[in-house]
Amino acid sequence: MTAPREARRAATEGTGIAQAALRVDGPAAHAGALAVLADGLMEAVCLVDPASLLVLHANRAAAQLLRMPGEDIVGQAVQALCPAPEDAFFWADVDAGLSQAIRSDTLVRCGDGTVLHVERRVSLLHLAGGARVFLVCLQDRTPQQRLEHALDMVLAEMQATLESTADGILVSDVQGLTTACNRRFAELWNVPEALLVRRDEEALRQHMADAVRDREAYLLRLQEITAAPLAEATDLLELRSGRLLQRTTLPKQSQGHSVGRVYSFRDITQERESQQRIEQLAYTDLLTGLPNRLMLAQRIDYALRLAGRDGTGFAVLFVDLDRFKNINDSLGHQFGDRVLVEVAQRIQSCLRQVDTLCRLGGDEFVMLLHKADVAAAEMVARRVIATVAHPFEMDALQFSIGCSIGVAMHPADGASMDDLIKCADTAMYSVKDRGRGDVGFYQPQMNMQLLARMKTEHAMHQAMEAGLFELHYQPQVDLLTGRVQAMEALLRWTDAERGIVAPESFVPLAEESGYIVTIGSWVLAEAVRQAADWQRAGLAVPVSVNVSPLQFQQIDFVARVAAALHAHGLAPQLLELELTETILVRDAAEALQRLHALDALGVRLAIDDFGTGYSSLAYLKQLPIRKLKIDRSFVRGLPDDESDRAIVSAIVQMARALQLTTIAEGVETQAQLALLQALQCDQYQGYLCAPAMPAPQALLWLQRGG
Ligand code: C2E
Ligand code: MG
Ligand code: MG
Repeated sequence: MTAPREARRAATEGTGIAQAALRVDGPAAHAGALAVLADGLMEAVCLVDPASLLVLHANRAAAQLLRMPGEDIVGQAVQALCPAPEDAFFWADVDAGLSQAIRSDTLVRCGDGTVLHVERRVSLLHLAGGARVFLVCLQDRTPQQRLEHALDMVLAEMQATLESTADGILVSDVQGLTTACNRRFAELWNVPEALLVRRDEEALRQHMADAVRDREAYLLRLQEITAAPLAEATDLLELRSGRLLQRTTLPKQSQGHSVGRVYSFRDITQERESQQRIEQLAYTDLLTGLPNRLMLAQRIDYALRLAGRDGTGFAVLFVDLDRFKNINDSLGHQFGDRVLVEVAQRIQSCLRQVDTLCRLGGDEFVMLLHKADVAAAEMVARRVIATVAHPFEMDALQFSIGCSIGVAMHPADGASMDDLIKCADTAMYSVKDRGRGDVGFYQPQMNMQLLARMKTEHAMHQAMEAGLFELHYQPQVDLLTGRVQAMEALLRWTDAERGIVAPESFVPLAEESGYIVTIGSWVLAEAVRQAADWQRAGLAVPVSVNVSPLQFQQIDFVARVAAALHAHGLAPQLLELELTETILVRDAAEALQRLHALDALGVRLAIDDFGTGYSSLAYLKQLPIRKLKIDRSFVRGLPDDESDRAIVSAIVQMARALQLTTIAEGVETQAQLALLQALQCDQYQGYLCAPAMPAPQALLWLQRGG
């Protein structure tokens, strides 16, 4: 084809195409008609002389395809046009009479030197009159090849994408047969390599069904998915291996038709685990591992819904440890934490599986008892109190803890968690007021009481700041001579609205809130100042000051007493402290140390309200106590009540044996006085002698000599 035009012309000297065809194979009319026909075809066509294998005619499309004028093609040897070995062999076979037709892809050389991919079809045409001509049709394969190449690229890209995703992918056709999957899929499902290589559809299906925990549900769901070819679906699969897979399936569509599905599997095991961990943290109390308020809210919510449906009630119990602060303060928070953990376990052991124990914080717990009536709630509460009360032993330390429980019932006491907890809390507080260690049910008037308490507490603080507290003094006198032995300082609060507020209605409140420490300091200072005043006026009468347990427990209590004495220059023996028995029972060792320190200061010590606590006389013997104040409740029944008489008599006798002074409180009648004299009680205090009086009046009383 590259031969110069002149040379080729010479090769076919004297013969045009038509002539050659005419001369070689038959009538010119046939060949000419054939050339005309070829020119009318869209396909590239060359006519080739079977004898010389030279091109006789090339149509327009052929000229275009081969990028050279038709007349340049004519006269070329066909092997030059199609230089591929396959073509060379074919034309050699034609020459040898072995072959007449071929159809395959090959290469042709173009006029501009480029090589083109074509599909080439050669067939031998038998013309009328015995003439023959080879028809060589050429079809440019470039566009198709481009398409194939593009397709290859897409495929390669798809494969790479498939492999690069972190998800396992499985592609199936419309029958559900697997058409592709990636390595990650095999990994997630633990598919053996052999199974993949074998491409055993049924075995793969079985393998997957066997791998899930709930085989039945898995197969059922698969059926549903297959039955709805256009639906998308996402669900979770739990594998026996412990893996949790999220399966998402999308329909594969082509031209609006479903042609199969793509399943992707995402391993969310870790995600789920961390989510569970986060949830666990959000819903549990870190110290005890119990549910926290958030979880309780959910459980109560559930109980409320359940109650709404079947009408069954439930109980909410508020548990608060009694004097837990003491443990924290004296043994440290770490120790306190360990105690809380054990308490939590003990309470939990009293509950059924369906019930919930939650720690609200500090030493506060809430129990939710499903389908419980008043009787059941009380039974559980009593069981908890008893279980918590068992002695604890930690670090070779033995101690015990009480708890107070308030109960609110649904639906009687409230319709929401907040209301129910509030009611149970109120009921718990009223148990504490009554002396702790018990269970109490919420009663509607409790809220009023609580409100009143809060108001009183607020007013008390303001009164202290405004200086509305004062001390009144009540004489304690000798039973025989009537001589004054001491003046007891008694706190008085005159409120603008309430008038005189009795100490009994605010001292316990102040004890509970701890405010008694502030009040007590003021009382001590004021009483000492008063006694020093009287001392300077020549009336050396001891002042007796009531000391609350909390005040006594303050580390610097002894130092404060010493400082007050020093500040006002009062002789220590002119100060008497009235302690309660509870001080002695609690923290025995520390209390003992403090009592001795006070004794060493020269301060006198008395036990107030004796007989109402638990202290034994034998125990008192070891203490530097000088005086027992027989509680008013035993004096009240004198002289007629036999048991009161027996008690007072016993106290006086034993006290004498221990060389303790006795004083009877609340003596109002001559008859009481007479009996007390007969019983050899030493002193008395009461309205019979004098009530508590404001300081100026008390001074007059003292100056009068009683
Ligand atoms: P208490 O220490 O046993 O005080 C004696 C109480 O009996 C006083 O009541 C006194 O007024 C009252 N009383 C005296 N004689 C008679 C009588 O013949 N008949 C009757 N029925 N009562 C009599 P008050 O002043 O109301 O004090 C009540 C309690 O409040 C005191 O009992 C004491 O426990 C506490 N308290 C009073 N002042 C203080 C204080 O400054 N600090 C502390 N911590 N507690 C105080
Ligand atoms: Mg007293
Ligand atoms: Mg008393």
